[in-house]
Amino acid sequence: MTGPAEFKPEMVQDIWERDGGRCALCGLGLHWDLRGKPFERGWSVHHREDRGMGGVKRARKGREQPRAYLALAANGVLLCGTGTTGCHGKVTREELPERLGFSVSRIGIRRPVDVPLLHALHGWVLLDNEGGYAPADEPDEEEMAA
Ligand SMILES: [Zn+2]
Repeated sequence: MTGPAEFKPEMVQDIWERDGGRCALCGLGLHWDLRGKPFERGWSVHHREDRGMGGVKRARKGREQPRAYLALAANGVLLCGTGTTGCHGKVTREELPERLGFSVSRIGIRRPVDVPLLHALHGWVLLDNEGGYAPADEPDEEEMAA
């Protein structure tokens, strides 16, 4: 679980504070000490834009710029569960409508800072890479198709 796209501890703390220690999808209150644990109130930080192993390899060969923003706040949201359980499991299995903003396509033109997210605590927001957020309009279907 290390690598250029992993969230650094300070960044995890910023994301935790921004999300109020709650699951950004269902709003469940999480327990700080249960990161990565498959218990109730356990949690993990979800990468909205996937790390994609191929990208990291290409970056090492110098053909592609490393996607440094993958490890920044706009790309991370607190979710209950692990990659396979709870809300993190749901998002990983792509059970959510794309328009909710929890998943950002690697091949799309928009990066995580550009894609509105329906946050359990804050409503529709755009996340920034400093651990902040700003209110955003709910995307309409036409925007999603663009
Ligand atoms: Zn949840």
